[in-house]
Amino acid sequence: MAKEFEVPKEVLDVVTTLQNKGFEAYLVGGCTRDLFLGKKPKDWDVTTNATPDEIQGLFLHTFYENEYGTVGVVNDDATDETLKVVEVTPYRIEEKYSDKRRPDAVSFSKKLEDDLKRRDFTVNAIAYDPVNHTIFDFFRGEQDLQDRVIRAVGKPEERFDEDALRMMRAVRLAAQLGFSIETDTGDAIRKLSATIEMIAKERVQDEFSHLLMSSSPMHGIKLLHEHGLLKYIAPELEEGIGVEQNGDHIYDVWEHNLRAVQHSAEREWPLHVRLAALFHDVAKPETRQWSDEKKDWTFYGHDVVGGRKAKGVMQRLKYSGEITETVAKLVRWHLFFSDIDQITLSAVRRLVRNVGPENVWDLMKVRACDRIGMGRPKEKPYRLRKYESMIEEATRAPVTVGMLNIDGETIMEETGEKPGPRIGWILHALLEEVLDDPAHNTNKRLLAQARALAKLADEALQKLGEAGKEKRLEEEEKEISEIRKRHGVK
Ligand code: ATP
Ligand code: MG
Repeated sequence: MAKEFEVPKEVLDVVTTLQNKGFEAYLVGGCTRDLFLGKKPKDWDVTTNATPDEIQGLFLHTFYENEYGTVGVVNDDATDETLKVVEVTPYRIEEKYSDKRRPDAVSFSKKLEDDLKRRDFTVNAIAYDPVNHTIFDFFRGEQDLQDRVIRAVGKPEERFDEDALRMMRAVRLAAQLGFSIETDTGDAIRKLSATIEMIAKERVQDEFSHLLMSSSPMHGIKLLHEHGLLKYIAPELEEGIGVEQNGDHIYDVWEHNLRAVQHSAEREWPLHVRLAALFHDVAKPETRQWSDEKKDWTFYGHDVVGGRKAKGVMQRLKYSGEITETVAKLVRWHLFFSDIDQITLSAVRRLVRNVGPENVWDLMKVRACDRIGMGRPKEKPYRLRKYESMIEEATRAPVTVGMLNIDGETIMEETGEKPGPRIGWILHALLEEVLDDPAHNTNKRLLAQARALAKLADEALQKLGEAGKEKRLEEEEKEISEIRKRHGVK
């Protein structure tokens, strides 16, 4: 079969070098799959019948990638990160897996088919020769790409029994590609889902993060659930299934959390925002209470409990302390907006202090996910824009004499002035100048001006000082009104 794909020169060079020495060499795995799908591959893998030593002998700059004979061929001139290292792996046969994680031994083979049949899914098991434009597709991967299904190579149960992580990979790939999981492959996952517990949490976490960072995390999490995997990863989310909410909500808690995380993907927001969106209402099921007075459900404390619960999930999945803390904070404070009357600048300042100035804009993103996850219109309502404007007002650097490249202490030392109101007047007179022309804010110039000002009598100096204070206030007002204008609020 023939197929012609555009392949970067760096990659072509590696394949050509191997082939010119009489070896076979093919592109394989994710890169071939992505070429077929018309996507840009994120790394390039070559498979060959050359041994690791033979591979190393052919290239100037190489290193051993892992214990399975993969050699990284380095191209120091490549400007594109994805082309810096081309991974070259000898055809490999994997011996039996007794621990559901790693092969007991690997051996090298001279047959391409051996290498392809050890691979996880048919769509990842197509070999492409970029020099002769031929493909080798023993497991009908191209057909599965067309049908948009993830199908295990060989007998699904055996393959998941060898390596339980493949179950996570199946779902993660389905989420990334927007594919479904073929029936027998899916049945095998459902049957063996409990064995995911044999896999190191860090590896499960890694696949889970890839799933969340895909363009369809909602689809991915639903697949995890349908295949019985979610209960070993985040069973807390499943507690939300069928949990009806109060009047504002049209979705149950489960669907709402999923729609929230889906919005974070549509906006291409980072992992910690996606995790916080996914878990923001995780404590709603356990805090739900019926209120006879309101004739509706209430969820008091679901923010506080949710922060703790999200932290628990993250720790169980062995996420780093840093991202765990951030996600826990975002969940803990996601309710800030519930009371409109409390939108005062001091309330906003308190929130910024609580969630941390470095997280406050991410909190607004989580808030957007929450809102869109309820089925609300995409455009921001007035009070949300108002809130954002106030965050900016609360976090901006104030206009003060602190901005000057000189302080009262230095002025006293250099002019012989004593502590007292004259120092304040001098500083404010200097501030006025700097506000007129920021280029004047150099220590040298300010010092010279301070010396001149210090020669003035009290009355004249006070006048200049007051004018400076006036100017400062004007400047503050101008900045605030610019912020409000930018947010389209009064
Ligand atoms: P990505 O686009 O995320 O890199 P990928 O399919 O290239 O996706 P990798 O983890 O880079 O994923 O793996 C490269 C190839 O190695 C896969 O396409 C597959 O053929 C094979 N592979 C990876 N992990 C496994 C596994 N656990 N079992 C069998 N084959 C695997
Ligand atoms: Mg890859």
